[in-house]
Formats: sequence, C-alpha cells, structure tokens
Amino acid sequence: MSVMNQDGLLHISLLEGQARAILIESTAMVQRAKEIHGLSKIATAALGRTLTATAMLGSMLKGEDESVTATIKGGGPIGTVLAVSNEKCDVKGYVTNPEVDLPRTGKKLPVGAAVGKEGRLTVIKDMHLREPYVGQVNLVSGEIAEDFAMYFTASEQTPSLVSLGVLVSDEKAEAAGGLIVQLLPGASEAAIQSIENSAGMFMDISGTMKQYHLDGAVEQLLIHLQPEILERRETRYACDCSRARVEKALIALGKRELRDMIDEQHGALVNCHFCRKAYGFTEEELEALLAAATAKSQDK
Ligand SMILES: [Zn+2]
Repeated sequence: MSVMNQDGLLHISLLEGQARAILIESTAMVQRAKEIHGLSKIATAALGRTLTATAMLGSMLKGEDESVTATIKGGGPIGTVLAVSNEKCDVKGYVTNPEVDLPRTGKKLPVGAAVGKEGRLTVIKDMHLREPYVGQVNLVSGEIAEDFAMYFTASEQTPSLVSLGVLVSDEKAEAAGGLIVQLLPGASEAAIQSIENSAGMFMDISGTMKQYHLDGAVEQLLIHLQPEILERRETRYACDCSRARVEKALIALGKRELRDMIDEQHGALVNCHFCRKAYGFTEEELEALLAAATAKSQDK
C-alpha cells in the first residue's frame, strides 16, 4: 500500500517579476520521514517543516551535485533537527529524539517548545567552491518557518515570507507544504502592499495542500499576484548512502577507533542516520579498513 505521491515544487514569478515564490507540496516526503524514523506527531511536524524548507533551498541551487544542509539546535527536548537537500530536491533528514512528545496547549502542536529557541539555525551550502557558504541566525521561535524567514532576511539579505505546514494524524502525515515569497530588487510600493495584503492567506499551507494540492494552491494563494510558473520540479525523500560511503566514514574515524571496534566489538554494525539502513562489518573487513586508514595516515 502506498500513498499516491503528488509531491512537487514550483518556481513562480509574481507581479511581472517584482517578486518570486517557491511553492511545494511535500506530503509523501514527510510521511516517508515519519515511517523511517518512527516520528511522533511533534517530531513529524518539526522535521517535516525543516525538510520542506530545505527542499525549497535545494531548488535554488544551480550546479550538479550541490547540496544544502539546514541544522536547527534550539536546546529543546527534540535535540537537533537536520535536513539535507541536493539540487534535484532529493531530501533526507533526522532528529535526535524522534519520539519526543509534549502536552498540547492549544490547537497547534507545540513545535516551538519541542525545538526550543535558545540556539541557532545554520545553513551550509556546498557548491564545490573552496569553502562552503555558511549562514547562521539566532532562532526566533523554534517554530521553524519564522526561523527560516529570519535566515533569508538576515543572512541572504532577501526579505521573505515563509510558511511551512504539516498536518499529522495519529497514523500519518495528512498533508504538508511550504511557500516562500521573496521581493526582488526594485519592487514597487504597490507590489509590496499587494504581497502584504495576501500574506494572511499563506498561513494555513497544509490545509490548502490537503484540499487543493500543488496546482490548486497556486490559484488559491497567489492568483491576486499574477503568478507565472517558471519551473516545475519533482521532490522526494531519498537517501544516497552506500557501503562505499560508510567505509569512507569508518576510515575517517581513524586507526584507534577501528582497532577498538575489532578488539572489543569484533565487528561493527553501522546504521545510516538518514534511512536507518544497517551496514555490517566483520573483523576481517575492519582489518582491511584499518590498513587503508594506516596507509592514508602515512600519506600525510
Ligand atoms: Zn541512508
């Protein structure tokens, strides 16, 4: 049994180029994350919002094999929330405590309380330059959408409205989506006013996606802003781990760690953080990696 995957992402020009929007439907992506990690409702909302925002960031990358990683450390009981997207909008992520639960105080899940707000959102873009781009902002509320809005405004100097939403029942992610609206240089006062007037409608993004899906949401949310679809993308939860990558990571741990695994554990079982796939290594296989680590350290 599988949920019909209607996920997708649109780049949209608004008001004849005075602003732009990225709109995403991410229901299947968030449900996949929930299944892989056994996420509680709050964790589904927190990681789901972060995956959704990170997919939109990934869609802004230009070159092949580029990636963007968003990390939120707010000091709350969920621990770290981390998501990665490549330029194809394949996303993956995890949280430290997937089973985190807190009493609901109002109608909404207390995502901000689970994430905490005493910390930072860090965005790292690897674009194969000498140094990766690193942007960092203090958290506004831990509710994630406001935190990404602050990131775009403070770190990328692009005033942005960000709406992220995950509707989750006991069983599954019912709907998820996101919208970023950014003013472009030279936007008129009238354009700014039009966007401000529409902002209220952007808030219930998961409700809009549940009812209308991606194309219907363009009509519902942006019709007053003369939307023109520039680009349509697929997006999904996908992990690119492999045995070769895990071997590389084990070699990078160093000789002492590998020696301990051989002598004390007589093997190793490594789980991918992103998809939970298990990679097993026998003592003999670890000896081979140890030899590789030794050769590597002699190269230096
Ligand atoms: Zn994996």
